[in-house]
Amino acid sequence: MEQEKTEINLPSNFIRNIINEDLKNNKNNGKVHTRFPPEPNGYLHIGHAKSICLNFGIAAEYPGGLCNLRFDDTNPVKEDVEFVDSIQEDIKWLGFTWEDRCFYASDYFETLYDYAVQLIKMDKAYICGLNADQMREYRGTLTQPGTDSPSRNRPVAESLDLFQRMRNGEFEEGKYVLRAKINMASPNLNMRDPVIYRIRKASHHRTGDKWCIYPMYDYTHCISDALEGITHSICTLEFEDHRPLYDWVLDVLKMPCHPQQIEFARLNISYTVMSKRKLLSLVRDNVVNGWSDPRMPTIAGLRRRGFTPKSIRDFCEKIGVAKCYSVVDYALLEHCVREDLNKVSMRVMGVIDPIKVVITNYPEDKTEEFEAINNPEDPNSDKRTVPFSREVFIDRDDFREDPPKGFFRLSPGKEIRLKFAYYIKCEEVIKDPATGEIKELRCTYDPETRGGTSADGRKVRGTSHWVSAKHALDAEVRIYDNLFSKANPEEDGIDFMTCLNPDSLKILKGCKVEPSLKKAEKAKPFQFERVGYFCLDSVDSTPEKLVFNRTLALKDTWAKVASKS
Ligand code: ATP
Ligand code: MG
Repeated sequence: MEQEKTEINLPSNFIRNIINEDLKNNKNNGKVHTRFPPEPNGYLHIGHAKSICLNFGIAAEYPGGLCNLRFDDTNPVKEDVEFVDSIQEDIKWLGFTWEDRCFYASDYFETLYDYAVQLIKMDKAYICGLNADQMREYRGTLTQPGTDSPSRNRPVAESLDLFQRMRNGEFEEGKYVLRAKINMASPNLNMRDPVIYRIRKASHHRTGDKWCIYPMYDYTHCISDALEGITHSICTLEFEDHRPLYDWVLDVLKMPCHPQQIEFARLNISYTVMSKRKLLSLVRDNVVNGWSDPRMPTIAGLRRRGFTPKSIRDFCEKIGVAKCYSVVDYALLEHCVREDLNKVSMRVMGVIDPIKVVITNYPEDKTEEFEAINNPEDPNSDKRTVPFSREVFIDRDDFREDPPKGFFRLSPGKEIRLKFAYYIKCEEVIKDPATGEIKELRCTYDPETRGGTSADGRKVRGTSHWVSAKHALDAEVRIYDNLFSKANPEEDGIDFMTCLNPDSLKILKGCKVEPSLKKAEKAKPFQFERVGYFCLDSVDSTPEKLVFNRTLALKDTWAKVASKS
């Protein structure tokens, strides 16, 4: 029953189809067990989110389905606990749980070693003394078969002895490696006696100095999967050519569990990079402010920017899974974020580029409170009050001295509505005599339009957001744009560092926001009416100095009109 429901509700994709078929045939005794296997050598990015949603999502769809978190920590040189912690935080934030199943490949080092000894005893692995250059030479090419290593027929006893001594630390790095004995003439280069162990005299973030030999990824991954009883080992397409090796190791060792490796295309998004190596260099070279810089495609960056877990999950569902390479438009991710933020964000008023409006016929000391609904999209929304007084700020963008056709905002002699408050009419423009810059607008208000509607039925086409000058809070606002100015900074032959967008961050000081934001919580999304979605910066904002990140702009209707004409 459950299963039928699953099939009806969810769009089919080739991975679900494979699993459904397996369940029909009672393969794996009807079990579905996946894993998400990050290497803790960087922060997770939106591409990993696709893999997380897929692995944890699929497990959740099937009755009794499970998904493990496993750190593939086989390269001590690049890995760190900082990354282990951030990865766990990000997966939880995305809304998934591994329960008590967080594993580390390093937990299996002893077992992996034993299996390697077994391979040597079976004459399926040998210690090779070629150096890296020789190894490359002997490997052959796509069109040329490889050549057997002179060590290939080393007696089993000798390999066993050397392997033990490698473990004991008797040799320098690079002196020896352990290789699987498969086929140097295989058309698949991964099968030409791949290295499965190497010497690395480095401390590991979990096993310390216990080991000076470390297993290679391909060898480790399939055995780890099998040890954990994984049924479907979902990975990205670049591992397709590694699948014969995955299967070879498990077959030769006669492992009782043999997971099925299934590959899908990795996610690429326009105007950003998704390689951990490149993200790391952005951090190292201080091009961005750390892994959680809101311009980064990392989960930590998107979170700090104000993206919601739901919007990222929706995005991952929308893009689907396929076997062919594609680049997803960044606008689709933004669309998912806007869709969610529109539903959940509290509406407030904030003025990004303030211009003062003095309402000359409004009493000097008077303050009125206008009631505003926090979220009109939510039928149970709370309300708040917004103070109004003689001097308010509006956005510079909402005024034009010489309004072009179709501009319905404020201009000399024209009347607009101040949202929730009154109609005002611009009577006079005060400029700085030296620079010509507009300093202040003198307006009058119509007391008969209290609440923003006119008693005589008179309509205005423009509505501006505003904040009362004497009640407003100062804020810094950070406006983000694409980190790269080129749609595909990862294109072959291009140095991605030369494609950086110089305007990816604009810091605006002296912005004015309504006083209710004094008590704003971090991580809470706001819509500044008519401007965009914002959140407090989790790192730099303090009650004394508010710092907002613009998550995304609202679609600006005027910009659309202006760009058309
Ligand atoms: P590395 O080059 O360091 O291996 P990686 O991006 O593959 O980088 P992993 O930590 O190995 O990083 O990735 C964990 C899991 O996330 C893997 O199963 C990997 O296939 C998947 N993954 C990584 N990048 C993407 C992506 N862009 N789209 C979908 N899945 C991805
Ligand atoms: Mg990887």
